[in-house]
Amino acid sequence: MLYFIVLTRLCNLNCIYCGNNPEPEIEPLEIQYKIDDLKKFIEADPDPTIAFYGGEPLLRIPIMEQIMDNIKAKRWILQTNGYFLHLIKPKYLRKFDAILVSIDGRKEVNDFYRGKGNYDVVLRNVKIIKENGFNGDLIARMAVSEKTDIYLDVRHLLNLDDPKFDHVHWQLDVMWDSPPYSRYNNFDKWARDSYMPGIRKLIDYWLETMEKRYEVLGIVPFLGIMSRLLGLNKQKHLPCGAGINAFTISTSGKILACPIAPEFDWNILGDIWSTSFQGLPFKVMVGEPCLSCRYYNICGGRCLFANKTMLWGLDGFRKVCNITKYLIDELKKIEPNIRELIQGEKISLRDLNYPIYNNTTEIIP
Ligand code: SF4
Ligand code: SF4
Repeated sequence: MLYFIVLTRLCNLNCIYCGNNPEPEIEPLEIQYKIDDLKKFIEADPDPTIAFYGGEPLLRIPIMEQIMDNIKAKRWILQTNGYFLHLIKPKYLRKFDAILVSIDGRKEVNDFYRGKGNYDVVLRNVKIIKENGFNGDLIARMAVSEKTDIYLDVRHLLNLDDPKFDHVHWQLDVMWDSPPYSRYNNFDKWARDSYMPGIRKLIDYWLETMEKRYEVLGIVPFLGIMSRLLGLNKQKHLPCGAGINAFTISTSGKILACPIAPEFDWNILGDIWSTSFQGLPFKVMVGEPCLSCRYYNICGGRCLFANKTMLWGLDGFRKVCNITKYLIDELKKIEPNIRELIQGEKISLRDLNYPIYNNTTEIIP
């Protein structure tokens, strides 16, 4: 199973869609449990993946090293804002299977969301980890909001050469904010006139690259959905795995389904001292309107947090569903072309089978 370990709830940045406002009365800012207790809990699982998470996890590099030195995990993942990547020692860098670095696309878009100068610092540090021996899956992780042109921003990240990202993933800045749409001037217009046409163009580009260069570009939402359409991934549930095969160890030692919501009772599944890993899966799951949706076997309900909290109301939830359905339908249209390319041995099924383990990419943006 995948375990997010929150190394600290603090962050050095203040991105526009996050706000960096951890409340200590909900969960402590720093880890309160002993690493030995974490070890006992994690090592009971024969197949654990550990993903360091925050806040910004690299604000606590010594704790990260202590965990990597003392706990046996099958895979190691890091989600980071990239500011302190250059401080990870090569010995630890080489152990990571995947590093997800937050970067939102073109410099002007990224720096608008994430702060002036952020783009340059992050790319400089990503280059350093490559030089220092990181050899795993390097994933650019975007947050996508009203300033984003999905076609231009994803292409920009795919086209970077030094450093080269293996994959680009994104999450929509939706249903996290209350009051709803607080970061949009006009969400409907952006979705209709920018995001959805951009998705269409990006899918065309993805297919064209397969047809002309026999290359499968690492666009994570496309790969993840296509893997399900082609039957490579037979799971029907929530692709992020929250509460199913992904759990979060919060700073207090509580175990959560979704890492972003320590304040909700539905999200608290137990703690590392009194709960066994076998008892965790399926304690909390998405409900309606997802279970009776005909896209459920591909979408999986998209996001447990959104399904449970409905911060944009059912009407807003359905607006995001329309985007998800559009993305799935547009990918379905090129499924026959992809099958043909596979049959003609121009590309292989292996190229499309992603992710082969839960690497914290949520698949459905
Ligand atoms: S499209 Fe919407 S309703 Fe359907 S499964 Fe996905 S999130 Fe749920
Ligand atoms: S997709 Fe939603 S439920 Fe899954 S980890 Fe992200 S916020 Fe939590």
